[in-house]
Amino acid sequence: MNLHNWDRLVIKIGSALIAPGGEAVSGQYLLAIAHFITECRNMGKEVILVSSGSVAAGRLAVNSGDNVPTMAQKQAMAAVGQMKMMANWQRFFDFPCAQVLLTHGDLRDRRRYVNIKNTLRELLANDILPIVNENDTVATQEIKVGDNDNLGALVALVGEADALLICSDIDGLFDKDPNKHPDATLIPQVEKIDSTIYGLAGGTLNKLATGGMLTKIQAAEKATTQGIDTLIINGFKRISFDALIKGQPNGTLFKATSAKTKAKKHWLRHTLKAQGQVFIDPGAVSAIKNKGASLLSSGITSIQDQWLKGEAIDIIDAQSNQPIARGIVQYDAADLMKIKGCRSNEIEAILGYRPSEEVVHRDDLALITE
Ligand code: GLU
Repeated sequence: MNLHNWDRLVIKIGSALIAPGGEAVSGQYLLAIAHFITECRNMGKEVILVSSGSVAAGRLAVNSGDNVPTMAQKQAMAAVGQMKMMANWQRFFDFPCAQVLLTHGDLRDRRRYVNIKNTLRELLANDILPIVNENDTVATQEIKVGDNDNLGALVALVGEADALLICSDIDGLFDKDPNKHPDATLIPQVEKIDSTIYGLAGGTLNKLATGGMLTKIQAAEKATTQGIDTLIINGFKRISFDALIKGQPNGTLFKATSAKTKAKKHWLRHTLKAQGQVFIDPGAVSAIKNKGASLLSSGITSIQDQWLKGEAIDIIDAQSNQPIARGIVQYDAADLMKIKGCRSNEIEAILGYRPSEEVVHRDDLALITE
């Protein structure tokens, strides 16, 4: 398993790489990373960056004396630093970067989750590099992901990536704490994350970093169980990136425990509970079943029950009354009622807005028989 098997990557870069002095952004380590991102894109891969560093980059602009900064001071630092961090990235690229700021509150809200997914899809389709961070300026404890390792995993899920690459200040996962035991050896590959693996995670020694090995293992668990390989590499070493390009990654690889499509289809079919039903005509049945098409409003003959955008619905063959698929719906039931049977280009005139072309995107749809 290596770079060549991955078409879409989420690359997570820690604060220590962005602001190595802890107080301002620096390009020192980003050049190698930016080069790697550009190489990946030249190889036809899609990249989403998850970048930390906003608090560190804005630290000097907000006076917190000698005290540990308060929440408001940190949020102010993040507001200043986010711009600096984005500008620092953009200067390495001659393609556009896009700022995406998220909280856990956004990711657990089904409507916003679908919006995030649609936006990332659109950015990637336009060859734009999305750069994601937690929206630290508004995030409070209750709505926070809290660390960018776990945020990276959630972004890999919503962005449907094949791999999550966590660039850290350590070479990977060791069999003992390498700071205390000089004979500690690197574990190149982890097949399954269990309590023994969690037992290897010490806390972070880096005062800049929010996460440590623990949050990295949590992130790897989130991602690998959904079919996303996770690799921890040392982002300070250029050789880590050269090795990846050559297809011989160093660091620690946590292998996906199931195939991504299989994991997604299983989740769609078995984990999600359908909140309602849409009945579709023979043309739509054939397009979905035989051509792997998305569900469009024009094929819908009637709907049943109430749901909100982002929830799951069953798609039923109106002629036979048999369910043929389940998927994530892009419209509330009330809106769909108004546009059923209409062409996609009529939606705007009827609803006053058109969140998406599809009612259920083909990537968010699982056939019952698959
Ligand atoms: N969102 C934080 C920042 O940009 C970083 C969180 C983390 O490093 O895990 O400063």
